[in-house]
Amino acid sequence: MIAPGATIGILGGGQLGRMTALAAARLGYSCHVFAPEADSPAFAVARHTCASWDDRAALAEFAASVAVVTLEFENVPVDALEFLAGRVEVRPDAAVLAVTQDRLAEKRFLQSRGFPVAPHREVRRPEDAASALVELGGRGVLKTIRLGYDGRGQSIVTAPEEAVAAFEALGPGIKVLETFVPFEREISVVTARRADGALASFPAVENRHERHILRSTLAPAPIAPALAEEAVALAEAVAEALGVVGLLAVEMFVTTEGRLLVNELAPRPHNSGHWTIDACPVSQFEQLVRAICDLPLGDTTPFAAAVMDNLLGGEVDNWPILLAEPGARVHLYGKREVRPGRKMGHVTRLFPTLDGIKR
Ligand code: AMP
Repeated sequence: MIAPGATIGILGGGQLGRMTALAAARLGYSCHVFAPEADSPAFAVARHTCASWDDRAALAEFAASVAVVTLEFENVPVDALEFLAGRVEVRPDAAVLAVTQDRLAEKRFLQSRGFPVAPHREVRRPEDAASALVELGGRGVLKTIRLGYDGRGQSIVTAPEEAVAAFEALGPGIKVLETFVPFEREISVVTARRADGALASFPAVENRHERHILRSTLAPAPIAPALAEEAVALAEAVAEALGVVGLLAVEMFVTTEGRLLVNELAPRPHNSGHWTIDACPVSQFEQLVRAICDLPLGDTTPFAAAVMDNLLGGEVDNWPILLAEPGARVHLYGKREVRPGRKMGHVTRLFPTLDGIKR
């Protein structure tokens, strides 16, 4: 067990790292954040090292200063993780990252373990995109296999010529073409797993996107209890199969037939888990600290229903109004530069139940 008082290393300096450091501080831990960007939001709340992922001397010094390393960003280069793992415990480990950094590896892993995913094809050349689209029924989403997030690196395609053009527009590298899923809604489950296999999950939530960026999370998801239980069981089974230590966010589609399909995995805190800070005894961030330090996992039963809205781009300028709103729980990430669609903060509102809440 890594007892309070120890220092936790966090790879990545975004808002997820910032909120992890704040939760760790509450439990008496210190954090040391490692990130390459000078204006990282997490730097304001923890000791930090600003260096590139291939700076071995900086990584070695970082490793020597912490009791365990976790991450808030899944695109940390695997060789940097392996280098750290030779010096200190890294949770989740490089093998988990190797799968979740690569959409194709992730889909293959899920499929090989019998988890439901949308039909898809690997696409190596523009002309393959056209034939794959025909095979998949004529409507698909072409995605880069690496470094895609918030809708970057993907394109909806409905005709073979469009698939070819999209392949070229997405830049170099292998792509994956997935069938366009006519979903009823999108949901996610954040699960925590300890090294001894203990699991704890937050309830399934619904996620509403706008231009591929998360707009709002509704907790709990307004779905039948049996389906919500199925989603939690699915997320836990994936976490176990992957052997993740820390958190695993599992994004799923609920299809129009009421089936679950896994869309994406993230082995870290997730935007769809932010509501847990204000509506659960233990937040996803504290749960991450508990999981990687071998502490008892916390109670994930919400004491309220919640709606979390992201503050995107210039919406953050509404902070004076939000702060004046009774019951609005405002979280600002301290990002200096406002860009359209950039996640600048979020606001969570609690309700006894979401029944009758218009959304
Ligand atoms: P992703 O980056 O894979 O999480 O995709 C971002 C968003 O694009 C998802 O949350 C969906 O709203 C949409 N999307 C991605 N893949 C598909 C798909 N195969 N069918 C329909 N919508 C999709």
